[in-house]
Amino acid sequence: TPNPSANGNLSFNHNNNNNNKPNFFARSRKILEQRKSLPIASVERRLIEEVRKHDILIIVGETGSGKTTQIPQFLFNAGFCRGGKTVGITQPRRVAAVTVAKRVAEECGVELGQKVGYSIRFEDVTSSSTSIKYMTDGLLLREALLDPYLSRYSVIVVDEAHERTVHTDVLLGLLKKVHNVRSKYIRDHTSVGHKRTSDGAILEKENADPCISVLKQCEGRKLPPLKLIIMSASLDARVFSEYFGGARAVHIQGRQFPVDIFYTVNPQTDYLDSAIITIFQIHLEEAPGDILVFLTGQEEIESVEKQIQDNLRQLPEDSRKMSTAPIFSSLPSEQQMRVFAPAPAGFRKVILATNIAETSVTIPGVKYVIDPGVVKARCYDPIKGMESLIVVPTSKAQALQRSGRAGRDGRGKCFRLYPESEFEKLEDSTKPEIKRCNLSNVILQLKALGVDDIFGFDFIEKPSRAAIKRSVEELILLGALTDDCKLSDPVGHQMARLPLDPIYSKALILASQFNCLEEMLIAVAMLSVESIFYEPREKKNEARTAKNCFASPEGDHLTLINVYRASNDLLEKRKSEVGKDKHEKILRKWCKENFISSRSLRHARDIHSQIQQHVEQMGLCISSCGDDTLQFRRCLAAAFFLNAALKQPNKTYRALASGEVVHIHPTSVLFHTKADCIIFNEFVKTSKEYIRNVTIIDGFWLTELAPHYYARQE
Ligand code: ADP
Ligand code: MG
Repeated sequence: TPNPSANGNLSFNHNNNNNNKPNFFARSRKILEQRKSLPIASVERRLIEEVRKHDILIIVGETGSGKTTQIPQFLFNAGFCRGGKTVGITQPRRVAAVTVAKRVAEECGVELGQKVGYSIRFEDVTSSSTSIKYMTDGLLLREALLDPYLSRYSVIVVDEAHERTVHTDVLLGLLKKVHNVRSKYIRDHTSVGHKRTSDGAILEKENADPCISVLKQCEGRKLPPLKLIIMSASLDARVFSEYFGGARAVHIQGRQFPVDIFYTVNPQTDYLDSAIITIFQIHLEEAPGDILVFLTGQEEIESVEKQIQDNLRQLPEDSRKMSTAPIFSSLPSEQQMRVFAPAPAGFRKVILATNIAETSVTIPGVKYVIDPGVVKARCYDPIKGMESLIVVPTSKAQALQRSGRAGRDGRGKCFRLYPESEFEKLEDSTKPEIKRCNLSNVILQLKALGVDDIFGFDFIEKPSRAAIKRSVEELILLGALTDDCKLSDPVGHQMARLPLDPIYSKALILASQFNCLEEMLIAVAMLSVESIFYEPREKKNEARTAKNCFASPEGDHLTLINVYRASNDLLEKRKSEVGKDKHEKILRKWCKENFISSRSLRHARDIHSQIQQHVEQMGLCISSCGDDTLQFRRCLAAAFFLNAALKQPNKTYRALASGEVVHIHPTSVLFHTKADCIIFNEFVKTSKEYIRNVTIIDGFWLTELAPHYYARQE
């Protein structure tokens, strides 16, 4: 037998974590030092005592004090994960869940997905050994559908509660309920009139409290009470404390250096231009230190990033030492960590971020903040039933959080791109999202969780009656709810299971009947990401020519499908060139040549494979309508009949459901076509009321395919 060590050399298997990290020990020592120096490190014991004493605890602490990364580790060390239980931490944003989980895995010296993992929609990096699990608040809501008492969790930490996203608000309501069931009822069973047998089991009474079945299940599974921790960066803990019956709130001292605030002398007409000018002014005139710029979305970030690169090329060689790092929610997860890496020696890093960098993630090294004073927010008109994303001024609280980011490591500067007089006009704080969004998604989930009385649900802040009513009506029209507001079978249940907006779920279910589920899966995946096409300012014509190669005369949905299929064909053709990396490269090059955002396309491809799994599990039939695109457009009409619009004599359109006058967005392939009847998927309000993602349909289809809506109106 051959002796593997015959030549006298033994090869050793190195611990996986240390592979290709020669400075592993130096790095882990540095991380330990960083952890120890965090303000929260000195209060570990006291915090754990508080958690033991209080089932519900509110923790308020300045951004960067170590709440998100450290508290779950404290809980783990204190034994809260014994017996295979999990500490779950919810985040409003995907990026935060992912980057924080990666950081904590590194701090613990473990592989991501083992002891520390994350789970977000369309991406689950956990295993049976995961004890510390970061996830989005929306994801935990979905888990509750399968596990109503969240039985695998011993502690749930609701992080960034001050953000008051619609999912956070609903989650708080749900957790309050689960908490009551898991602790109060179990302990004080006699106080609600349940007797126990000698071995402690609950005796069933006649006309038993509906909680009995819940109690029995809890007992059967030996559920410990659920610990709830609500974390917030806003100093005002009152609203949470009151909501949880006067729950205890503790404050953690932060560490903050002074930040000098600068305002522009005059109002700015183009904040992107102003931001770019300010970036270069800082770069050329100010001391070393990284710059954090707040922008409203991926499109803006990518365009500013390009502009910076172009401007840099015009500077003398020795002034070009600047690197850019974007961070926004649909950035592929392997690119997200780049933002934390220090710039090369002598370089200045410019971080281009959405409001994710406001409180969710803290990036070390920032000395300068540029704040255009705007943010993209959801906004809903319950009378018209129209939800849109619009760019609005930030609140004062947001402006303060943003400027605070400059004072983490030392004295900093914040440049607000508006005059000081404007600051005074800002709202004090942001209105909770639940008050300004379409609620059909939330209501569908609550119904699936067994909450029948939506009006009576214990929301931390109640959405308006009009908004609830409108959204319930919409769900009835989509067939998710019956006329008496019960979840319909099977459609409502199927819709609740799909991790998509109800209207998209409905489109998929219908598509299996219209024999075009293959097309609809692609369309929904492509519609789930921010703009696939990009158009650099200085290459508008080239970009448009490239786009025309994919354009379908029938509309944007088929155009998007063409792009997706072209990328499939490309990868198929070059299948023989092995390796995932190689394929990545091929795809990136092709995207660049065709003015397609490779990030968006990749994201869409991921989403596609995830939704495909879901619909396969549901047993829907995936078939293609082939060249019969009429079939696909009929299906679009059947699904999106609430978003139909008719051409007016003056060439504008009138949205049929809302009566609103709308305009086809210039990026649509139908911008010049002006068909008589169209459906659209997105309503955006900028300088005008625009609709995006538009396809031509036949007006008669509406009465044929959605008679319950259109016949009624006539
Ligand atoms: P909080 O939740 O209180 O805002 P965090 O726990 O998020 O604070 O952050 C604590 C510290 O950890 C911050 O100083 C931050 O810069 C650092 N940190 C977090 N994630 C990373 C990362 N991926 N790389 C380097 N430092 C990080
Ligand atoms: Mg945090």
